Amino acid sequence: MRVYREEEILEPRLQKVTCNQCGKELLVEEGIVKEGCFGVHYKFDYFSNKDGYIYNLDLCEECFDQWIRQFKVPVQIEETKEFL
Ligand SMILES: [Zn+2]
Repeated sequence: MRVYREEEILEPRLQKVTCNQCGKELLVEEGIVKEGCFGVHYKFDYFSNKDGYIYNLDLCEECFDQWIRQFKVPVQIEETKEFL
């Protein structure tokens, strides 16, 4: 869950990120998340029961790791070649 400063409507600055699973508040400095965070902004499309809804959520790195360990099929992990 992300909270932005309300007074900066044109360029909202990230103020706070809370893990939706455990409630941990992640470190945010200068509008940037400074630790591992799995942030999702996903719009479901046609053919789903959630068509027209956008889901926003954030998981801390620990909760992300716990979540994917539950998968029956392991997540495919690639090493990134470029860092921006
Ligand atoms: Zn968490």
